[in-house]
Amino acid sequence: MSATILIVEDEPAIQELLSATLTRAGHQVIRADDGESAQRLLREALPDLVLLDWMLPGVSGMDLARRLRAEERTRSIPIIMLTARGEEQDKVSGLEVGADDYVTKPFSPRELVARIKAVLRRRAPQATEDPVDLGGLKLDPATHRVSAGEAALSLGPTEFRLLHFLMTHPERVHSRAQLLDQVWGDHVFVEERTVDVHIRRLRSALEGSGHDRLIQTVRGAGYRMSAQAEASQAVR
Ligand code: CA
Repeated sequence: MSATILIVEDEPAIQELLSATLTRAGHQVIRADDGESAQRLLREALPDLVLLDWMLPGVSGMDLARRLRAEERTRSIPIIMLTARGEEQDKVSGLEVGADDYVTKPFSPRELVARIKAVLRRRAPQATEDPVDLGGLKLDPATHRVSAGEAALSLGPTEFRLLHFLMTHPERVHSRAQLLDQVWGDHVFVEERTVDVHIRRLRSALEGSGHDRLIQTVRGAGYRMSAQAEASQAVR
């Protein structure tokens, strides 16, 4: 499993240890020393998960978690809080502001990696290597293979990531800006029509098996992947 994880921790030694632990577990790490620089990094690109220290200079970890949850764009990023005190009240407050889990310092690297994996599986399935199956279309992140029935499909790397995200978040409409954030990891430097170009390529790769129908254009809103559409068309 390889996810992009933003570490927000002001103590250099702990930040280093966290970074080494997560890198060894196969993740990409971005680091921030405080809440302000974390917010700056988040404006450029969204990570798959934020590992957030409770005690930070300036904006506290709890305030930052609250801000991330209040904003539409960052609302669904999974957050794991790091708390030094391990006090029951901190954990309760952390979960109240919307953290998904917490880890008490000093932490066990194995436990941290396991908790990250559990939260990602629950909250960001596109960052895991679990195979996905939707409407007869199968995608396996571990082997990077996509198949429709017996037929293997050939997709470019961006189309593969786009399809993975759509398959792990079906029945929901995603705007072009959201897709840029989630699939490209960037919504500032890439134009929104880039999304249309890759959707077109993805549809043409799925056309042979008829699975292009699973990707719907929702006018004025964006794109949606739905297995239900296929079922209703089959009935007709
Ligand atoms: Ca700290």
